[in-house]
Amino acid sequence: MTALLEVNALRKHFPIRSGLLGLETAKVYAVDGVTFDINRGETLSLVGESGCGKSTVGRAILRLFPLTDGEVYLDGERIDNMPAGRMRAMRRRVQVVFQDPFSSLNPRMRVRDILAEPLINFGMAKSRRDLDERVAQLMDQVHLPREAVHRFPHEFSGGQRQRIGIARALAPGADLIICDEAVSALDVSVKAQIINLLAELQDRLGLTLLFISHDLATVEHLTHRVAVMYLGKIVELADRRALFGQAHHPYTRALLSAVPVPDPTARRKRMILTGDVPSPINPPSGCKFHTRCPFVFDRCRIEEPVLRPVGDDRGHVAACHLDSVPDAVPAAA
Ligand code: SF4
Repeated sequence: MTALLEVNALRKHFPIRSGLLGLETAKVYAVDGVTFDINRGETLSLVGESGCGKSTVGRAILRLFPLTDGEVYLDGERIDNMPAGRMRAMRRRVQVVFQDPFSSLNPRMRVRDILAEPLINFGMAKSRRDLDERVAQLMDQVHLPREAVHRFPHEFSGGQRQRIGIARALAPGADLIICDEAVSALDVSVKAQIINLLAELQDRLGLTLLFISHDLATVEHLTHRVAVMYLGKIVELADRRALFGQAHHPYTRALLSAVPVPDPTARRKRMILTGDVPSPINPPSGCKFHTRCPFVFDRCRIEEPVLRPVGDDRGHVAACHLDSVPDAVPAAA
């Protein structure tokens, strides 16, 4: 497989301004040096608690704001500094599905027009008849009845609206779809249906997915690899089997311990996170996780750990000073 998306040392710091002159008084270190790639036809999940910077990474790839530093490549071509004229073709290839399908779909437009809009904008239809046929095919792809194209978004359920959001992302023939908490607002059974639909579309169309979620359980059956983020940095990256079976980083283990186990007789060691995520305006020194880590020791407060290989699997990396993390939380923690 070859990398479709490469993100190198991405940084996004938002300035905080105050006073009459609007002088910069502080920065929000939303994303602080994130590197990963996604192979063609692969799903990579970015997971972490609210405020860890995962959605900012997605928005930076979409170029919704300029980067503070770093580089983004699509198919080997650098896109973070690409001139607006050339960026238009790239925009067609990278699409997004947002969390709330209701607010991301124009309530005054019928589904037919919602799906036709990107086809027209990117010159994807030769005639009115071609346009209608392509819209009908998009409805087929997301398993919605063709005749529903004449309805408005409010006439659909939440799951159906998310199917329309996916169809709109597919419309311009995207290679990469960024799913930003795309199933978080759905109830459990509908969530499973949408995840199955995404997996089916990936198989059929060879899509590449960047799946952003606060919940590890959501990504377990969909993803090929997982990157866990904490306070603007990736703290562990591994393929699904290694991450769910042999997580190294104490933060990943804490997130995993909250994932329900399907077998009620199986017991998973609980590691409950205490305290809140520190402010990204004034992140802790050393390891960013040290204020909540039950295994913290002196070095952690001073020296920031870097991602390094851990475990037996190639590509499994974690940022923790410990070579081996104990299963049990120390009694004093
Ligand atoms: Fe915990 Fe230290 Fe590892 Fe950070 S480096 S996760 S504080 S043990």
